[in-house]
Amino acid sequence: MTAATTLPDAVLPEVREFLAAEHLLLIDGERVAAADGRTFETLDPATGGRLAEVAHAGSEDVDRAARAARAAFAEDSDWRRMSAADRGRRLERLAALVEDHAEELAQLETLDNGKPVKYARAVDVASAASHLRYFAGWPTKVQGNVIPVETPHTLCYTLSEPVGVCGQIIPWNYPLLMAAWKVAPALAAGCTSVLKPAEQTPLSALRLGELALEAGIPAGVLNVITGDGETGAALVEHPEVDKIAFTGSTAVGREIGAKAGRALKRLTLELGGKSPNIILPDADLEAAIKGSFQAIYFNAGQACNAGSRLFVPHQRFDEVVSALAEQAAQTTPGPGLEKGTFVGPLVSAEQHERVAGYIDRGRDEGAELVAGGGTDLGDGGFFVEPTLFTATSDDLQIAREEIFGPVLVALPYESLEEVAERANDTDYGLAAGVWTRDVANAHRLASLLRAGSVYVNTWSPSDPGAPFGGFKASGIGREHGHDGLRAYLETKTVWVSLR
Ligand code: ADP
Repeated sequence: MTAATTLPDAVLPEVREFLAAEHLLLIDGERVAAADGRTFETLDPATGGRLAEVAHAGSEDVDRAARAARAAFAEDSDWRRMSAADRGRRLERLAALVEDHAEELAQLETLDNGKPVKYARAVDVASAASHLRYFAGWPTKVQGNVIPVETPHTLCYTLSEPVGVCGQIIPWNYPLLMAAWKVAPALAAGCTSVLKPAEQTPLSALRLGELALEAGIPAGVLNVITGDGETGAALVEHPEVDKIAFTGSTAVGREIGAKAGRALKRLTLELGGKSPNIILPDADLEAAIKGSFQAIYFNAGQACNAGSRLFVPHQRFDEVVSALAEQAAQTTPGPGLEKGTFVGPLVSAEQHERVAGYIDRGRDEGAELVAGGGTDLGDGGFFVEPTLFTATSDDLQIAREEIFGPVLVALPYESLEEVAERANDTDYGLAAGVWTRDVANAHRLASLLRAGSVYVNTWSPSDPGAPFGGFKASGIGREHGHDGLRAYLETKTVWVSLR
């Protein structure tokens, strides 16, 4: 067993209490141990010490959770009989509870994931609450249509019905927020859910499950099962699961997509990226540099839409690179609970090793390291310095593969057409950025870039109403907004002969 982490003094009593309690599965409103009694450790990335011991759901537990979600979806269940307005009110109450527990949830997220607590509070927790609140408004607006069909004496109308039981599998980079992205539209649509958080960060989803019960969401509507990829695979394969919603790596997404395809389950996938961020020669350089820094180093680069390929016009290349290098060199990674930390540790030893491996590979394949590169910062935490490479070829591994860490590759270019083509020369298509003062070039690139989101003079703003998702290998379907809700609805067409 790993030695326990030492909690800093700033940790709230309610967080200490939660951490000290048993971390059981949440199935049908009950907190239960795994059927075979298995547990796993979740670590504090700032120290490498053990944070908590968590129940490890096996296939028997997945089965129980899926059946509980099915029972909660039964035609005569409290959930199905509840009015749309009431469903919305309970989601609204959950949003308010997340806000009431903001500091507690933020600290929990920081301890489990490593991210700076001020961002956990201002981004993760605040956006989770606003997602829940946005979707709380939808249940009363889900409606069908009357279709003016040609058949005489016939009434034809559509109903929008919930898809059913959803298996929702989420990653470790924004644990609570990803849980809200999944749970909010599913519940707004009237579905039930079995949510599986990532094994690196299981705690905030368990807390969300408890808060959902407190908000009056009936037992069995939101079940939370903690475990690893095997647990996730059992959930994907379970016959009671009608829809899979997954956020994670493209490799696992392909596997899940293949299984869901065979079983003809409904599916949404939000996968990886290697997002191009393009500075045009006329850009406000100060804003572009600041934004490009944030685009890659926020959340220690652990974002599917991180701006990890920076394209800079050759005539401004040195200026941009030296400003970014200077800023990177001044940014020392630190524990998320320490005041002033901008870059926290990476989530796990495995991720640390993976990112360190990419930094070595970048050096080996001839990229020039102009800032950072340090991966052994002592203290047992999983820290990596904000790292900047320059390169002249797009074919380097560090310029093609998703690193999911604070590693940026800057590449010079000559013309707009050339850069658009190079930006699109990737399997991915999640996000892309453009920095320019020229409105025509901004829209031209927004049209040329093959990505689910294009950011102009900004990077990664987000809103629960604005669709988010990927082209190509970055995913299938969209989350947020009406598109996100529709992914949890089936259309039923009813034909009535009036003769
Ligand atoms: P990462 O490589 O960033 O850890 P993964 O795609 O492996 O991302 O993990 C994202 C989520 O998918 C986690 O909750 C993980 O447990 C789960 N997972 C991993 N492998 C599988 C699988 N084969 N089937 C279903 N879920 C999986």
